[in-house]
Amino acid sequence: MTQRFDVAISGGGPAGSAAAWQAAQAGARVIVLDKADFPRDKPCGDGLTARAVSYLQRMGLATEVSKFHRIDRVTVFSPSRWELSFPKRPGMPSHGHTVSRSELDMLLLKHAEAAGVTVRQSAEVAGPEVDARGRVAGVVLKSGEKILADAVIAADGAYSPIKRAMKIDSHYNGYSAIAIRSEMHAERPDTDSLDIYCKLLFEGDQLPGYGWVFPMGGGRFNIGLGYVNSYRKWQSINATQFLGEFLRTLPAEWELPGIDELKKNKSVRAWRLPMGFTAWPPWRPGVLFAGDALGAGKPASGAGISKALESGLVAGESAVAALTNGGPDDFTNYQQRLEASWGREYRRGRIFHRLIGHPKVAETGLKLLDNAAFRDRLLKGLYKKAQGPQHSY
Ligand SMILES: Cc1cc2nc3c(=O)[nH]c(=O)nc-3n(C[C@H](O)[C@H](O)[C@H](O)COP(=O)(O)OP(=O)(O)OC[C@H]3O[C@@H](n4cnc5c(N)ncnc54)[C@H](O)[C@@H]3O)c2cc1C
Repeated sequence: MTQRFDVAISGGGPAGSAAAWQAAQAGARVIVLDKADFPRDKPCGDGLTARAVSYLQRMGLATEVSKFHRIDRVTVFSPSRWELSFPKRPGMPSHGHTVSRSELDMLLLKHAEAAGVTVRQSAEVAGPEVDARGRVAGVVLKSGEKILADAVIAADGAYSPIKRAMKIDSHYNGYSAIAIRSEMHAERPDTDSLDIYCKLLFEGDQLPGYGWVFPMGGGRFNIGLGYVNSYRKWQSINATQFLGEFLRTLPAEWELPGIDELKKNKSVRAWRLPMGFTAWPPWRPGVLFAGDALGAGKPASGAGISKALESGLVAGESAVAALTNGGPDDFTNYQQRLEASWGREYRRGRIFHRLIGHPKVAETGLKLLDNAAFRDRLLKGLYKKAQGPQHSY
């Protein structure tokens, strides 16, 4: 039997659930298809920025989110130690949280379901269903079953099967980071700080990336590192081995396990993090891309959950608006919304991504960041900008 919906969403991570919830709010009949059985893990640092928290609050999840482990500051080791607080922005919290992705993604998927969305787990999408005019008109599952829809939202992650089947290319293609993480117990108090370690050396080169130690509560810590692929030798790095070396640089009194022990309990996982709009323009007739499938990650910094939520919410709203007012051939409204919100920032981010890949530039940048006077001037400017007008999402 072939089912028909207004909007079919491939992928039930933060982007897919946010898109589904938003489209259902606007009255659309929506289905989410995910190949996994939830709760499922997703390799992540599990850090929610203040912006990510604000989207969850807007989705009506403020009470649930307030129960997650709270974060009030960021401690940077560059290598000297200094602290950052989250800027105060109108209508936004000035704190973040950490939460395991199995918990967060389950919460979001259930929230979409409660809003009337049909959720199908263990439903692997093989690719798009394309009509005679070349427009995406639904999805085909691996089982051969077809789900037809007026609009499809591809929110199926960094290795998006829809994007791959359509051979989507963009002139921003190729911007990405490789990140790896593990979760473990540490003999240290729980804190309210996201710790960032900027000094990462590979064969003497300063890497364009950072290591992190994020408290999860209850003595558990998410520890990982990531680096962007503009570094010429990024493919020579054995990420697992490199994480092992990073763990050995952390205080011995934390009594962290070694990488071999972590590998045995399978908590060490690496994943790609596309960034800077790897699927631009973010739509083709019948289909919109959101989250990692769009390459929505913030270039170089790697914050991806807030961008997945934001692009998902905008995709859900834009899809329904276009279907109501014209049809599925043109989702320019989505492109305009993303361009207005992120266009300038991402153009600069892509330049930064390219520059920081040169070890000398990365080294000089780090030296400047380590200089208190320079850093104070830089941060003053950034805080001022953060307090400026906010976008609608
Ligand atoms: C190691 C690491 C650490 C990170 N740390 C952070 C952090 O601390 N904070 C932060 O903000 N961001 C972080 N990110 C980025 C963040 O994890 C991603 O940007 C975010 O998960 C993107 O959400 P998404 O919904 O687009 O994709 P995903 O979360 O990947 O969800 C995609 C969904 O699609 C499903 N899917 C895939 N293929 C199919 C298919 N064929 N059929 C059906 N369903 C399918 C998957 O099962 C999955 O549920 C990190 C990334 C990595 C790799």
